[in-house]
Amino acid sequence: MTNEHFRKSAHEIVDWMADYMENVEQLPVKSQVEPGEIKAKLPSTPPQAGEEMDAIFNDFKKIIMPGITHWQHPSFHAYFPGNSSKPSVLAEMLTATLGVQAMIWNTSPSAAELEEQMMEWFKSMMALPSNWTGSIQNGASDSTLNAILTAREKISGFTTNKEGITHNKLRVYCSEQAHSSVDKAMAIAGLGKNNLVKIAVDETFALNPIELEKSIQQDVTNGLTPLMVVAAIGTTGTTAIDPLPKIALITEKHKLWLHIDAALAGTALILPEMRWMVQGLEKADSLVFNPHKWMFTNFDASVYFVKDKAALINTFAESPEYLKTKEDSQVTNYRDWGVPLGRRFRALKLWFVIRNFGVEKLQKKIRLHLQLSQNFKKWIEEFPQLELMAPVDLNTICFRFADLSKTKEELNVLSEQLLEQINDSGKAYLTHTKLNDWFTIRLVIGQTNVTSTHISNIKKLISELVESTVFQT
Ligand SMILES: *Cc1c(COP(=O)(O)O)cnc(C)c1O
Repeated sequence: MTNEHFRKSAHEIVDWMADYMENVEQLPVKSQVEPGEIKAKLPSTPPQAGEEMDAIFNDFKKIIMPGITHWQHPSFHAYFPGNSSKPSVLAEMLTATLGVQAMIWNTSPSAAELEEQMMEWFKSMMALPSNWTGSIQNGASDSTLNAILTAREKISGFTTNKEGITHNKLRVYCSEQAHSSVDKAMAIAGLGKNNLVKIAVDETFALNPIELEKSIQQDVTNGLTPLMVVAAIGTTGTTAIDPLPKIALITEKHKLWLHIDAALAGTALILPEMRWMVQGLEKADSLVFNPHKWMFTNFDASVYFVKDKAALINTFAESPEYLKTKEDSQVTNYRDWGVPLGRRFRALKLWFVIRNFGVEKLQKKIRLHLQLSQNFKKWIEEFPQLELMAPVDLNTICFRFADLSKTKEELNVLSEQLLEQINDSGKAYLTHTKLNDWFTIRLVIGQTNVTSTHISNIKKLISELVESTVFQT
């Protein structure tokens, strides 16, 4: 491709991008294709001769776009948001153009130093302890794995990396509602999923600290080695908030690593009025949150903070000859901060987003989402055929069909049907969870461009669908 061709195609694509952002609301939120439909439209072998950009871009529009679920549609209420925003997209264009591989300071000093400074900005924006250090990871799964590997290495006096695990059964504790990434990390770290102790939750789906203390004591009695507690601030099912002050007392008493998984909810810490969620935070050893969820920064950007920086680096540092530089003692080489060697220049999009929004506008958006969530929660509470299933402290509303004349099984079928009808309408996209064996619909209000109008629309849609269901049954 000549530079001239690149310039022409790039302008066309940027125009398409702006049109997409303007018109995304006209598209069905959830892709409506069947399994295999997209692949069937793609040639089974690659082209021998190069093709023109026009042809490729036309196929993108014709073949690829129908199989896209529109995460940037304001009526995307599924999972947790995977938000983007205009400054984030612009930064990603530059990141791709520079094509920097930011493994060490030397490979692009700006990438390393901007990342360092963004971590300081987060500490200031979110009132995090000043003695923590942070780095950008791919996702919360990587960050939690990072915490487990560091704790595993530290408890062994930094011998596990060399000798393998010699401790008898290192035990990690989290609530029944914790994210599956903790199970995965246990498997990868060689600790074994069976050594992840799932602690019962209370009626708000938050970890019960009395049960936690009991489990730890029982393990000690049985000669096992408690290692870490993962506290969830905002579980994926219901955004339950584990009681950090009580958990911190327990981890302090037993000298355990306390890791906080605040993948979604961490963003709300930019609001002083939401910091009650992490009271006792300074006693934690590490925390992860994902700007790529709720902070308008497109995937991937997870931020991992750790108190004991030396332990982290002792766990991950490898210094092959070809990566040694004379600046090593003065600079941050992020290759030593996690599993991958190569790293994308992800700090740039955080810089663009935080500067272009400014802290005030970020706060304003998060406050709006929290307000809309309270409003939607009240609406559910007052809706005769629907029942609220969990507290709404953040931006996730869990509800189901309710009707005293029907059995649980019948109501589960109706809730599932309602969810399918909403998603098939193309007007909104919601997902579900199971709570105490109830099929539960989750509605998350966190998309970058969601407004009260979109919430009114989803209320209207749900009312109509519930009414027609009630009428039919
Ligand atoms: C989304 C989520 C994760 C996983 O995040 P990734 O960045 O996709 O790895 C982990 N924990 C919680 C609580 C989450 O909500």
